[in-house]
Formats: sequence, structure tokens, C-alpha cells
Amino acid sequence: MEYFAGEFDVAVIGAGHAGIEAALASARLGCETIIFATNLDSIGNLPCNPSIGGTAKGHLVREIDALGGEMGKAADKATIQSRMLNRGKGPAVHSLRVQVDRRLYSAIMKETLENQPRLLVKQAEIVDLRQISDNKWEVVTKLGALYRAKAVIIATGTFLGGRIFVGEVHYDSGPDGMFAATSLSQVLKNMGISLRRFKTGTPPRVDFKTIDLDKLEVQPGDEKVVPFSFETEEPPVNRAVCYITWTTQKTKEIILKNLHRSPMYSGVIEGIGARYCPSIEDKIVRFADKETHQLFIEPCGLNTREAYLQGCSTSLPEEVQAEMYRTIPGLENVQIMRTAYAIEYDCCDPLQLYPTLEFIKFKGLYGAGQFNGTSGYEEAAAQGLVAGINAALKIKGQPPLILERSGSYIGTLIDDLVTKGVADPYRMLTSRSEYRLVLRQDNADERLTPLGKKIGLVSDEKWEKFKEKQELKQQELRRLTTTVIRPSEEVNKILEKHGTTPIQTGVRLVELMRRPQLGYEQLKKVDNTRPTLPDAVMEQVETEIKYEGYIKRQLAQIKEAKRLEALSLPEDIDYYEITGLRNEAKEKLSKIRPTNIGQASRISGVNPADISVLIIWHKTRAAATKSDNILENENL
Ligand SMILES: Cc1cc2nc3c(=O)[nH]c(=O)nc-3n(C[C@H](O)[C@H](O)[C@H](O)COP(=O)(O)OP(=O)(O)OC[C@H]3O[C@@H](n4cnc5c(N)ncnc54)[C@H](O)[C@@H]3O)c2cc1C
Repeated sequence: MEYFAGEFDVAVIGAGHAGIEAALASARLGCETIIFATNLDSIGNLPCNPSIGGTAKGHLVREIDALGGEMGKAADKATIQSRMLNRGKGPAVHSLRVQVDRRLYSAIMKETLENQPRLLVKQAEIVDLRQISDNKWEVVTKLGALYRAKAVIIATGTFLGGRIFVGEVHYDSGPDGMFAATSLSQVLKNMGISLRRFKTGTPPRVDFKTIDLDKLEVQPGDEKVVPFSFETEEPPVNRAVCYITWTTQKTKEIILKNLHRSPMYSGVIEGIGARYCPSIEDKIVRFADKETHQLFIEPCGLNTREAYLQGCSTSLPEEVQAEMYRTIPGLENVQIMRTAYAIEYDCCDPLQLYPTLEFIKFKGLYGAGQFNGTSGYEEAAAQGLVAGINAALKIKGQPPLILERSGSYIGTLIDDLVTKGVADPYRMLTSRSEYRLVLRQDNADERLTPLGKKIGLVSDEKWEKFKEKQELKQQELRRLTTTVIRPSEEVNKILEKHGTTPIQTGVRLVELMRRPQLGYEQLKKVDNTRPTLPDAVMEQVETEIKYEGYIKRQLAQIKEAKRLEALSLPEDIDYYEITGLRNEAKEKLSKIRPTNIGQASRISGVNPADISVLIIWHKTRAAATKSDNILENENL
């Protein structure tokens, strides 16, 4: 029996990483919001690695923070170990990755949701979803509570149609022993939403006290820790270490002997797995020539003995898992606390979405997170933020937020999803962006905080801090450009010490900084007028001076790309009416409904000839509109 339980502007189904950002954004932008979770202990749960960030994922977290999202702040508060990855490579791929206390991270997010004005947090499974009219929806819980909302955001993650696989044992369940959401999939299919079956897997959690740590290599955190959030004053401190070990020949033998019992290899699992998060079985099979595989032992928190065996995700039977782990140095007597498993779940085909993450066919319905075919906490949070912002902006009658791929990894992620679609769970990589040098994690605030301010998600305090940093940066660039270093014995000794040529005449500091051997560290004895500057400003200034040429070239490419992005395409265009377009292009354009010619040019099956036709069509239409307006004015 259904009963009316309340009316909201926005209803968010799911309180994982996507749902959290969506609900906070929508409530912070002034919308009455309700967020549902099948279990409130799933709020901000980390069912896989107890870490936030990593290559390209660190960029996403910084961008979420710059736009006014929450993940970066929570990660800083829950950090137990911090490392900047790829420091030995160029700044484009420097990526922050932190180990977090899993329980603390979830508790911080739950408290943040509960303390957010205009946001109600509700434990309930949504079993029905009905469209009353455009931008008018009803969601119904398992207990019959009916809620109305102008917008609904689906962020159901790995719970939707969740099914667990461990060897020959399979059963309906969400992650970490929580209930699966078993009703909503059919409702969505009946509405005409096409769903896919994807899968992912996780390694075991083993008991630290049963690991012989003396046999393992220690991996400490960085000496100098930098925070994720631009708002974090005090950087977190390292309070734990990770350990490194390797699989052995014996491990390989056990896996190969039992491969037929792995649901992935016995064909029981139909779901498509993530290419970039292979199970240990996949690694042994795919890289047969490799004798051993590196594993990381990561602490799951400060008040738990649970250790996450990174690199060893599997769905082999439990007894095989135990046998296999005990062949690994340091784990000879290991006890499993949580068995590794694979999970299959339903997600949608993201080609059904606009870059706002609203469904093309359902006004007021949005998708976010794993539900859109991605994998990863950071990817999920980024989409949740954009979906929440757009649901609120639409309700408030304001223009949508569409992030361009030339401006952010979030824009790149969403454009890839809604323009190219996904063949397997999509994980963000720096190689997915053609503008890596411009989309660095250190300048995420410069690229996105003004946008966050414009839409109303960035607080005044954050904005003032941002402006201050920008001012410091500009002052410093001016100082380096105008300060001349005169040749002297002392100066030239320092230059030679760093393997670069001495100077004969006065040289501007910026010129010296351009030399590959010289940076702030090396020039500190030469540069007597240096003001005290935050590390973040020095890092950014040094990068922009050293990579100036490359950055300029990428900015020119971006300018060219923006030219096509500026040629917008109306929602209701009939591509079958446009002569000169090939049939395949007509079909693809009609299905994906690109919002501009730039997006159209990235759709597979739409080739340059089709784009030329579209550009001509756009110009003709613009000219016609112009002459109509002139005529109209003349008639007035
Ligand atoms: C076993 C496993 C292994 C993973 N491995 C990796 C990996 O190797 N690499 C990686 O990057 N990521 C991995 N992940 C993925 C990562 O966990 C997800 O990407 C991330 O949690 C997705 O966030 P989300 O917000 O989309 O969904 P989730 O975090 O899954 O949250 C979904 C939320 O929706 C709620 N919900 C679902 N259906 C309903 C309903 N009908 N009514 C009400 N509430 C509902 C749930 O209660 C939950 O709060 C793994 C996840 C799992 C489970």
C-alpha cells in the first residue's frame, strides 16, 4: 500500500560517492533534497581500495574540490598516508593518492550529509520510479512511501542488480554484505532505458597480525604532504605505512590449476569487467611471461587490523584463495577477514545522456557514478557533482553546466561517456585527455573555481582564498620577469654546481628558471628578493615557466577546439532532413543528440565530411535567422 511521504525538488537514489556529491550540490544550491540509501552504513563506503586519488583520479578530486564538491576535504580529514605519484615524470601526470581510514571517511561523509541544510537522509530501497510529466517524478520505497520530486538522480552503483561470485557460489547481494537493489532495474527497462551488465572485483581483507611484516618492503608516505583540498589549511600527516610483496611461481601454479573454478573463466560471469583493474587470474593469463606480480598491503584504517591486498582481486573459491595467499612472502600464515569476490551489477548505456547527465528521453531524470558505466570513487563523485548541479540549475531556471573536455578531466570523462559510450567500466587515465599539460592537478582551481563561484557552489571564503593565491601568483610571475640577476663569482659558482652555463651579462630570473637544471630550489641562493610563497604557488609558477612553449601550443589547440564547440546544435534537429549527411552519421547523431558540432566531431561513425556538412548547415541556418530578424525589425 503506497502512502504520500513528501515532496522535494531533487531525489537522489544512492548515497555512494556519486550520490553524496549530487545531494550536497543540489541542497547547497538551494533545492530541497532527499537522498536514499539501502543502508545508511553504505554512505561513502569504500568497497574496494581504502584510498582516494591516484593517476588521473587525483586530478578529478582536485577538480571536484575546485568546483565546490566535498571529496577532497573528506579525504584530507581521513588521510592516514599520502603519496604524490609520478613525481619522477612531468607535472601533467603528478597525481596525489592517499590511504584513508575507511570507517572515518564514511563517517565524515555521513555527518556532512546529516548536517547539510535542505537535505534529508533516508534509509530506504527505491523499488519504483514513475514519470508524471516532464520534470515531475515519483519514487516509491519498498515500504510504500511515495515521494514526489522535480528531478531524480540515479546513483545506484554496484548495488543495482548486484550479484556476488566466489568460485561456484553466487548470490544476490551488494558489496560488503549489504542488500542488493533488486527491483529498480526492471522498472528502468520497462521505461525504455537500456541497461548493461558490468562486473568488478575486489581483493581480500586479511588480518594484519597474521602477516610477517619483517619479510615485506615498507612503503612510507611522502615527507612533504600536500592536501587534496584548496581549502585545507593544515596538510594531513602520515600515520601509517603500506607494504610491498610479490606473488611467487607457486601462486601462479595454484591459480592456473584452479582457473576453471574462476567464474570469469568458467563463463558464469557475463558482466564485462574493467580493463584497467584486472583480477590476479587475468594478470596470470594475460601476462603469462611474467614470473611474479607486485602486491601492496594497505591498511584499511587506524583502529582496525584489516589489511587490503592490493593487486590481488579475485573470484576464485575461498579455499583456493587461502591456499594461494599463503604462497606469498609474508603471508604464509595469513588469515582472511573478508574473502575476495567479484560483483556483477546493472548500469545504463551513457549514450542515452546529455553532457548535463540528464537522460535525453526523460526530462528531469539524471544518471551518475558507476550507474553510468564508470569504475572508481573519483569518477563517480565527479559525475554526481555535475548531475546534482545541473538538476538544481534546471529547477532554478538557470543555464546548465556543461564542462568542456578542454577545461577539465571531469569534462573529458563526461564527454567520453555521452559521446563515445563505454565498452567496459570506464576508468579515468591521463592519456584520455588531449590537453594533459593544461589540465594539471595543481591548476584545477584556476580552471574551475571561477565556474563554481558563478553557479553559486563556491563559498565567499574559498573565493577570497582563491583570489589571494591568484594575486600572489601574478605578482611572482611579474617579479621573475622583471628581476635581473647580475653575473658574479658566487652566482656563476652556483650555476656551474647545477651543471648549467655561467652568465656573462644580467639575466632575468625567468630566463634562469627556464633552464632545465634550475628551479626554485636551485635558485634560492641566487634569488635574494624572493618573498615567502606557498609551495602550491611556486609549483605552479615553475611549471608554467618551464613548459611555457608546450602550454602555449595546447592552448592554441584548445582555442581551435572551442571554435567547433561554440557551434551549438538544437535539441530537436532532424538529422534525416540534412542533405549530404551519410546514413550512419544521421543515425548516430539522432541517437546521441550532440549539443554542438565539436561533440558531433567526436562521435564514432561521424566523419570529417559529415562535420563539414553540419558546419555549412549551421552557417546557412544562422544566416537565415539573421535575415529573419532583420525582416522582423523592419516590419515592427
Ligand atoms: C567489489 C568491488 C570492487 C571494486 N573495484 C574497483 C576497482 O578496482 N577500481 C575502482 O576504481 N573502483 C572499484 N570499485 C568501484 C567503486 O566502488 C565504485 O566505483 C564506487 O563506489 C561507485 O560509486 P557510486 O556512488 O556510483 O556507487 P556506490 O558507491 O556503489 O553507492 C551506491 C549507493 O546506491 C544505493 N542504492 C542502490 N540502489 C538503491 C535503491 N534502489 N534504493 C536506494 N538506494 C540504492 C546504495 O545503498 C549505495 O548507497 C569496486 C566496487 C566494488 C563493489
